[in-house]
Amino acid sequence: MPVLVASDLDRTLIYSAAALALTMPDARAPRLLCVEVHERGPLSFMTETAAGLLADLGDAAVFVPTTTRTRKQYLRINLPGPAPTYAICANGGHLLVDGVTDEDWHASVLARLAQECAPLAEVQDHLASSADPLWLRKQRIAEDLFAYLVVERELLPEEWVKEFAAWAENRGWTVSLQGRKLYAVPKPLTKSAAVREVVRRTGAELTLAAGDSLLDADLLLAADRGWRPGHGELADAAWTAPEITALPERGVLAGERILREFLKGVRGR
Ligand SMILES: [Mg+2]
Repeated sequence: MPVLVASDLDRTLIYSAAALALTMPDARAPRLLCVEVHERGPLSFMTETAAGLLADLGDAAVFVPTTTRTRKQYLRINLPGPAPTYAICANGGHLLVDGVTDEDWHASVLARLAQECAPLAEVQDHLASSADPLWLRKQRIAEDLFAYLVVERELLPEEWVKEFAAWAENRGWTVSLQGRKLYAVPKPLTKSAAVREVVRRTGAELTLAAGDSLLDADLLLAADRGWRPGHGELADAAWTAPEITALPERGVLAGERILREFLKGVRGR
C-alpha cells in the first residue's frame, strides 16, 4: 500500500528569490537549483539538497504536487525526480493524471461550485468596484474558477482586506493573502477534496501533507500527518492542529526540512 505525499509548492517546497529568507553570510549560502523559468528568467528555486530529497521521495511514495497555481503555471515548473502521476492544480479544480486534466473530476467540481457558493462574476464585479488603483496592480481570473489580485502590499489597507474577507465569507468564498497576491477562492474548491480523490484511486494507506497558507489548512487537516513552515499565513496566525508540526525553519531551508520529514514519515511507517 503506497504512502501519499500531497504538498503545496510555492513557499512550501519551491521559493522565489524574494521568499528565500536566507540569513547566513552569502559565502555559506546553500547551492540553489532553479526549478522554474518564466519569461526566460529564473523564478523559483529549491536547495540542491532539497532537490535530491525530492527525487528520493518520488521513488519512495506517491508524490502529489498540490497547488493553487493554474495548470499552465504548474506545468512550467520542472521538479526533480520522476514525473508525478497525479498533480492537483487550481486549488483542487483540476486533477492532472499524467499531465492531463481528468474531465470527470473537473465536472464534479463545477457542479459543486454551482450549488454551494456565489458565482465568480459576482466576486469579480465586487473586486472591480472596490479595489483601489492606488494599490491594485492586476486583477486576474484563474481557470475560470477563482480570482486573484496582484497588490502593492505596503499600500494595501488591512481594513479593506478584512471587509472584503467578511463580504466573501457571506457568499461562500475564502480570502487568502500570500505575498503580493490576494486570492478569492470558493470554499468548496479545496485541495483536500482532490487529495481524497487521489487517495481513493491509489488506495494509499497513509497521507502526509505540507503547506504554508490559509488555502492549505484543509489539506493539512485531511492528512494523517502534516508540517508547516515557520513563515507564511498559517505561521503568522500561529495556526496549529493535532498531527501538524510547526517547523521553526523559514524560507527555502523550510522546504528542505519538510522534504526530510516526508522521507522520515514514508520510511518510518
Ligand atoms: Mg504556498
